[in-house]
Amino acid sequence: EAKTAGRNAVRFFDPAMQAILVVRMMLESNLRIALANRQFMLYYQVQVNSDGKLIGAEALLRWQHPDRGFISPAEFIPLAEETGLIIPIGLWVLETACAQIKQWEEQPETRNLTLAVNVSAKQFQQSDFVESLSEIVGRHQIDPTRLKIELTESTILDNVDATTEKMHQLKKLGIAFSMDDFGTGYSSLAYLQRLPLNQLKIDQSFVRDLNHDENDATIVRAIISLGVNLGLNVIAEGVETSAQRAFLIEHNCYAFQGYFFSKPLPLEGFMALLKSDRAAHAADPADDNQTIP
Ligand code: C2E
Ligand code: MG
Ligand code: MG
Ligand code: MG
Repeated sequence: EAKTAGRNAVRFFDPAMQAILVVRMMLESNLRIALANRQFMLYYQVQVNSDGKLIGAEALLRWQHPDRGFISPAEFIPLAEETGLIIPIGLWVLETACAQIKQWEEQPETRNLTLAVNVSAKQFQQSDFVESLSEIVGRHQIDPTRLKIELTESTILDNVDATTEKMHQLKKLGIAFSMDDFGTGYSSLAYLQRLPLNQLKIDQSFVRDLNHDENDATIVRAIISLGVNLGLNVIAEGVETSAQRAFLIEHNCYAFQGYFFSKPLPLEGFMALLKSDRAAHAADPADDNQTIP
């Protein structure tokens, strides 16, 4: 009898499972503390065109934990989504991004920057997401066309009618949309055609072995022609080598993001890069005198 109870106890109080739950609970309460104690920050990664000119940036969330150092979003975003903490965290990201756009609008070398912000499914699917974002954009008095929202295929396909409607409303304000990690989901051509997208972002998993893996090369070429045929701008993420960049240019993709150009940087580093690297000056038709010789 005691043995049976013991077995049951083992089933319910599996120490390994319990350890996982404790770690999760700690992480969850740490996430709440992080928000209250301002432990989040945004890093910025440049996006460049084929002339090497800066065309925009992506905001990437970082959690600076007092003991554990930097914790990757890949580690805490999934838990933030499960617990609903992604809502206040995501609002903080949008607030911070819009405040940054406002600052950039006031300086000639950054006034044409577009800032891409990742929005998770749960956040985008909030019934008041459009109102919240319009309020933030309005309060910061930014040009809404400087803001680009990155959504993944699964976010859109989860609830395609509601999502498409929200995208249309935000697009009316001037906000742009990029489909992040494109190629990893299940978008059909029918959906792609009716979504108010501006950009397809080729997932880095296809870019990685582009020059060595014929399948990846084929997928990338297909994504680029799909984008071009739908009238969308196409950007590649995870570009790490000049050979990848050359392949992309050869196949009509002229926008890039990746370590070959720069890692994501904290604001000061990003601004220093802009100032030091002449090749990173914003492409602005009004600033032709800044063109690299
Ligand atoms: P993502 O939006 O696809 O972002 C690109 C990821 O690739 C970033 O990882 C970036 O640091 C990394 N990366 C950039 N260039 C290269 C490269 O050349 N090689 C390689 N190997 N990696 C590169 P990160 O910053 O760790 O972010 C991971 C993911 O977390 C993001 O993927 C995005 O899905 C999510 N995320 C980041 N910030 C936010 C946020 O503010 N809100 C939400 N909801 N999700 C976020
Ligand atoms: Mg992204
Ligand atoms: Mg991506
Ligand atoms: Mg990705």
